[in-house]
Amino acid sequence: MGLSVREKTDIMVDFLVRRYGDVQNLAANKEDPFSVIISCILSQRTRDEQTERAFSALVAVASTPQEILALPRARLERLIRVSGPYKQKAKKIHETCRQIMEEFGGRVPRTRHELMTLYGIGPKCADIVLMYGHGIPSIAIDTHCNRVPKRIGLIDEEASVEDVKRVLENNIPKSKWHLINTDLIKFGRDLCRPVGPKCSICPLSKICKYYKEGYSKRI
Ligand code: SF4
Repeated sequence: MGLSVREKTDIMVDFLVRRYGDVQNLAANKEDPFSVIISCILSQRTRDEQTERAFSALVAVASTPQEILALPRARLERLIRVSGPYKQKAKKIHETCRQIMEEFGGRVPRTRHELMTLYGIGPKCADIVLMYGHGIPSIAIDTHCNRVPKRIGLIDEEASVEDVKRVLENNIPKSKWHLINTDLIKFGRDLCRPVGPKCSICPLSKICKYYKEGYSKRI
């Protein structure tokens, strides 16, 4: 009889901790939630280095919702220009700052539902803000976190992002949810790449559906 989803998930999590380590105590390491929101918006459809450059340029001039709202839109656009679609991002940042001030009394909301009411904040950003900004366990599903569980066979290929999130949350103890956003992403970049996964040297091949059904037949 094959392994259950829970058993496979346990093997995956143990492997991730052994290979990439575990960043303990997320709550103690949390960052300023407003900065996390701004970084999230800036990171959309751009590379990490460009996000960091745009973030540094912006916070050198304005680092609170009030200060950013006081910037004319054209100035904000110039400051974040390096981050790609800067006009859309400037609009998202201004509108998010306005909502934080007018609807949340200047505080970054602490629930996923409220975070997702902010303009330009989708499910992934909401989960990232919960986790890194508030120290609240959450699983943010990016392209790697969506692909790897499907390849391993924890869930069907066609499953939605919310279903992938649910299956991971149901099968991983809350105290280890953060590993998905640290270690599973590293694994997705390192071995289980979108194109050309390194299955022949992957320790998870023994439990992997993709390997059993596809890759092993092609070698
Ligand atoms: S065996 Fe291949 S597809 Fe499966 S988890 Fe490893 S790298 Fe990914």
